[in-house]
Amino acid sequence: MTLHPKNHWDIPKQTARVAYASFPKGNVYMTMYDELGNLYQDGDFEDLFPVRRGQSAISPGCLALITIMQFAEGLTDIQAAEAVRSRIDWKYVLGLELTDPGFDQSVLCEFRNRLLEHGLTNKLLDLMLSRFEKQNLIKHRGKQRTDSTHVLAAIRQLNRLELVGETLRNALNEIADIEPEWLKSIISNDWFDRYSRRLENYRLPKKQEERGKLGLKIGIYGHHLLEQIWFEGNKKNDLRQLESVEILRQIWVQQYTFIDNQLVWRKPGESGLPPSSNCITSPYDIEARNSTKRDVNWTGYKVHITETCEPKNLNVITNIETTSATNPDGEVTSIVHNKLAQKNLSPGEHYVDAAYVDAYQLVEAKNMYHVSVIGPVGNDNSWQAKSDTGFDISVFMIDWDKQVAKCPQGHLSHLWRKTRDCNNNPLIEILFEKKICTICPVRSNCTSAKKAPRKLKLRPRDEHQALVERRQQQITKEFEQDYSRRAGIEGTISQAIGRFNLRRTRYCGLAKTHLQHVATACAINLSRFFAWSKHIHKSQTRTSSFAKLNV
Ligand code: SF4
Repeated sequence: MTLHPKNHWDIPKQTARVAYASFPKGNVYMTMYDELGNLYQDGDFEDLFPVRRGQSAISPGCLALITIMQFAEGLTDIQAAEAVRSRIDWKYVLGLELTDPGFDQSVLCEFRNRLLEHGLTNKLLDLMLSRFEKQNLIKHRGKQRTDSTHVLAAIRQLNRLELVGETLRNALNEIADIEPEWLKSIISNDWFDRYSRRLENYRLPKKQEERGKLGLKIGIYGHHLLEQIWFEGNKKNDLRQLESVEILRQIWVQQYTFIDNQLVWRKPGESGLPPSSNCITSPYDIEARNSTKRDVNWTGYKVHITETCEPKNLNVITNIETTSATNPDGEVTSIVHNKLAQKNLSPGEHYVDAAYVDAYQLVEAKNMYHVSVIGPVGNDNSWQAKSDTGFDISVFMIDWDKQVAKCPQGHLSHLWRKTRDCNNNPLIEILFEKKICTICPVRSNCTSAKKAPRKLKLRPRDEHQALVERRQQQITKEFEQDYSRRAGIEGTISQAIGRFNLRRTRYCGLAKTHLQHVATACAINLSRFFAWSKHIHKSQTRTSSFAKLNV
């Protein structure tokens, strides 16, 4: 069918899908629709719009798809709503009439809020994956890989002085809206000079001593405000219920303490600043945390991406986890396996770096999820293992059934007991006899203790054996070759950051940030599906002209 610009809008009740069915197919969305059909049905989201509250005027299935397309192109809500009104490829996949007037952009925000309220964020990705599964694009019990990257929160990084100043200013602003007269009655005029405007670092004193004094002054003001709210209260509203007041209270508890009835800054170590995993870094996003990894320091979150990595096959993102910036990667391994098992997408082999692997994860993945975790474990860091002549654990013979160990001198241990480490993980403690160790001729190779006998600390049997086995495997050429498959995830992270703006979150809070990550994962899957269906080859890692000279 040929369309003339003049009669373009005259097609009565004609959907864009029918009108443009004969257009050349070179568009991601149109290809997606032609190959996969409707990704999302209204019924998939019926919980979001219960009948008693009235059905949505706009199809929830369409809103889900619009959300994905919005993140695929990095559009704002206004731009996405405009694309629905004006873009022919969007109308095509949404099945809208050419004359469809679209909707107000606020509908998209409300849809996202409903997804969050009902805990249906992951459904966007799960439904897409089930469609891919039906098309045999995901191999059952195949190979998958995971890695993480840092995500910057949508806030400005604040130093401690700015943090307490902004927190107080934020609370004052909210209280001023609700109880203006009461607020005026409990503050003096100098509060207006200090807290009417945003606290910028360049306006603050430069000298450390003066900064300390100002920090204490802000602390005293904040404490005065909290005292007035808590103990004297006010007649009309309970200001304790305000979010900004609760944040003020929490940050004041974290940043200040009383010593000899004097309010003082908490200092790291001495008067107990909380660990960074608990420390609020901004009153505007109280879930963002500050963390450091190697030479990168950031405030925000961490995202863990899992994708299939079958050779010559479509690489599909199967899971995406958003965590606090301070969460260790190792804590996510079990979560990822659990989520993949729930989707019936557990891999046979899971390739991860050393941060995700330890003995417990190797055993748990094998026993609970039938997954082989492929990744290096940490080396034995004892001085005995590092020394050429030291007696590390590997030279002791362990008889797990009889619960006894034999040392290189042929002596048997005399104590075997269960204990726990500082993180409450189970351990086996093995002790040799003091009178034998004291006179042992090779004692200096075995223990550095002056008088005590040699003590061994082992993980439980399964974990110890998995650890020993992996340490032997990871130094082989075969392991190195197989493990190289993991490196491809770096390309996915690079694509997610460079093309889909994953590095910076659009929203405040962990839940909303996760929603952004789920939508981004769907968008990446769509673009990969398009490339795969058009036989567009994956780009390889480029070698610079200079590096090629060395080949
Ligand atoms: S120090 Fe004790 S445990 Fe170590 S080799 Fe000598 S006897 Fe055996």
